[in-house]
Amino acid sequence: MKRDISSKLFKAAKQVIPGGVNSPVRAFKNVDGDPFFVRRAMGCRIEDVDGNEMIDYVGTWGPAILGHAPECVVEAVQSAAKEGVSFGTPNPYEVDMAETIVDWVPSVEKVRMVNSGTEATMSAIRLARGFTGRDKVIKFVGCYHGHVDSLLVAAGSGALTHGKPDSAGVPASFAAETIILPYNDIEKVNAVFAEMGDQIAAVIVESYPANAGLIFPKEGYLQGLRDITAKHGAVFIFDEVMTGFRVAKGGVQELEGITPDLTAMGKVIGGGLPVGAFGGKAEIMDYLAPDGPVYQAGTLSGNPLAMAAGLAQLREMERQDGYAKLDQLGARLEAGVRALLQEKSLDYQFNRVGSMFCLFFTGEEIVDLDSVMTADTAAFRKFFTEMLEQGVYTAPSPYETGFISVSHGEAEIDRTLEAMSAALAKI
Ligand SMILES: *Cc1c(COP(=O)(O)O)cnc(C)c1O
Repeated sequence: MKRDISSKLFKAAKQVIPGGVNSPVRAFKNVDGDPFFVRRAMGCRIEDVDGNEMIDYVGTWGPAILGHAPECVVEAVQSAAKEGVSFGTPNPYEVDMAETIVDWVPSVEKVRMVNSGTEATMSAIRLARGFTGRDKVIKFVGCYHGHVDSLLVAAGSGALTHGKPDSAGVPASFAAETIILPYNDIEKVNAVFAEMGDQIAAVIVESYPANAGLIFPKEGYLQGLRDITAKHGAVFIFDEVMTGFRVAKGGVQELEGITPDLTAMGKVIGGGLPVGAFGGKAEIMDYLAPDGPVYQAGTLSGNPLAMAAGLAQLREMERQDGYAKLDQLGARLEAGVRALLQEKSLDYQFNRVGSMFCLFFTGEEIVDLDSVMTADTAAFRKFFTEMLEQGVYTAPSPYETGFISVSHGEAEIDRTLEAMSAALAKI
C-alpha cells in the first residue's frame, strides 16, 4: 500500500508533537512501522490520507461500538451544537445521562461526569481515600487504569512488593502507596489484607483486564475481591472504562453479578467524544464536593455535545438490540479463527467476550501478564503487517483487544477471516 502522504505528515508531526503522536499507543513502535493518518472513518471502515481503505477492528480504541460516524450520533452533535457548545452551567443532558447510567449499571446510584477514563480512575481513587481516610491502594500487574501517577505502576516481583514507578516523573513516594499484586491470585490479596487491612483505601481492578490482551478472571476471583474488601472496609473499584456499555448494558458487573462500590467508565459512553464518568454507592459519592470534603471538578465536564453524542449512541444500541447482534458477530469470528488455528495446527490462544477479542501468539493458558508475555512478538509483527496489506486494521500491538462494531457485517467478518488465513500462513 502506498502511504506517501502519511509519511510526509508523520515527518512533519515529529517536528512539533513528541513522537509525532498525541497518545503513544498510536505510534507503531511494536510493529516497527510508521502510523498512517486517517482522513475519514465511516461504519466499520477507515480511509487513510493516501486513499487506502481498511476494515477497522480498533474502533478508536473502544468507543465506536456502533461503528464510525453513526448517523444518530452525528445528528445529535449537530443539533446540540446549534444551541451552544458549552455552557459551564448545569444542562438537561447531564441529568438524562446520569439517569441512563444509574438505570443501566447495576451498582451505580450516583455518578459524576468527567472528560476521560484517566480522570475517572484518578477521581475514584481520591474519593476512596477521602472516604476511608486511608492511603494505600492495591492494583494488579497488567491492569491499565489510565496515566494516573499512583496507578502507573505495573510490575513488582511477588507478593507484598511495593510499587516502583513505571514512568519517569512519578515520585517513588507516590508509587509506594500502591501495592502491586499478580492478577488472578486471591490468596495474595487476602495475605496483604491480613497484614495491613486497616491501611488499604481501595482495590482497583479492570473488570476484565483488556489492556494486556484480554484476560478473564478465574472462577470466584472477582467475588473474592468483593468479599475481602467488604470485610476490611476498603472501597472496591471496578474499572469498566473499556468493558462498560461494551460487553453488556451494565458491563461486566451485570454479566458476573458483582457489585463494586465504585465504577470507572469511559470510551463507549462518550459516543466518540471525550467523556469519562465514575459512580457508585450514594454514601460514597456524596463525599464529593460541593457536598463533601473530596474536591473534584472540570470546566468541560458534562459538556452538552459530549452528553448528546453518548446518549444517542447508548439509545441506538438499545433500540437495535446491539449487544445481541455483537455477540453473534463475535461468535462468527471466533468460530472462524478457531477453525483456522486448527487447520494450520497452531496452538495460539483466542479469548473473546461479546465484541471484544484477542488472539495470543502463544500456546500458554492466559491467566495473567506473565502468560501474556510469552507471546511470539515476531510472529505478531508479521501477522499485523500482512493483515494491513490485506486491508484489515487491527491494533498495532500484541497486547491490545480487538473490537467489533454493530456496523461490521457477516461479509466483513468473512473477509477478515480470509485475510487472517493468508496472514497466518506467512508467520
Ligand atoms: C482506556 C482505559 C483507561 C483510560 O481512559 P482514557 O480515556 O484513555 O484516559 C482506563 N482504564 C481502562 C480499563 C481503559 O481501557
